[in-house]
Amino acid sequence: MDVIETFSDVRCFIVDMDGTFYLGDELLPGAVEFAEAVKRSGKDFFFFTNNSSHNEQECLDKLEKTGFHAEEGSVIISSHVTIDFLQRHRQGKTVYLLGNHNLRGDFEAAGIPLTEEHPDIVVVGFDTEFSYDDIDKTANFLADGAEYIATHPDVNCPLANGFMPDVGAFIAMFEASTGRTPDLIMGKPYGFTVDYVTNRIGCTREEICFVGDRLETDIAIGANNGLKSVLVFTGVTSPEQYEKSPIRATLALDNIGELGKLL
Ligand SMILES: [Mg+2]
Repeated sequence: MDVIETFSDVRCFIVDMDGTFYLGDELLPGAVEFAEAVKRSGKDFFFFTNNSSHNEQECLDKLEKTGFHAEEGSVIISSHVTIDFLQRHRQGKTVYLLGNHNLRGDFEAAGIPLTEEHPDIVVVGFDTEFSYDDIDKTANFLADGAEYIATHPDVNCPLANGFMPDVGAFIAMFEASTGRTPDLIMGKPYGFTVDYVTNRIGCTREEICFVGDRLETDIAIGANNGLKSVLVFTGVTSPEQYEKSPIRATLALDNIGELGKLL
């Protein structure tokens, strides 16, 4: 299929942030041109990040810092997927949350019943502020048999100069301690994210396309769920790594600006 035709029925791009649209505090090549091309072609795009340590306002502020103005409502986070799942499918169940003040604020605002004792569900999010007591409680609630939900699977979160251990690393710790692995994981590459995104933006699965730099999340969500995806080489994946990977994108491009040129 011709590459232009590939995107003719896409109405909305779901764009990863770090390593795809910006790196550190700098927009990546072609980011602004991509945004302009999307709007000009009558299509739309949303940002999606697995990073559940940030809330939407922080993500908007981060974009603003790079010089890109994004509207409220244009950033979707794995925490939104998790909260929506709990509201739809676990109504009234109590939750012990391993999460920082941003994630806790979003759960509280959504009315999720949080507890520190005998929870029905443990949600493990990207808690950048936890104490030993928090880890101890999480492990014991899991050992006692609480349902185990994680916001996303990323092992590390890339930084401009290195990385931070992320939820995937916490999952490994709790597995070593309790033998439990998550019953459900919410963010990319899992189907819960596809369901949430299509519902929220009112598009079918055929009308969305994920764009990102990480094969295991941004591209696997397309490959695992029969959706289009575009890999960009501005982040964690090199062309050499992609060549050897069984995870295949619909298209692989040097940067997001190249995608704009195809619209
Ligand atoms: Mg990324």
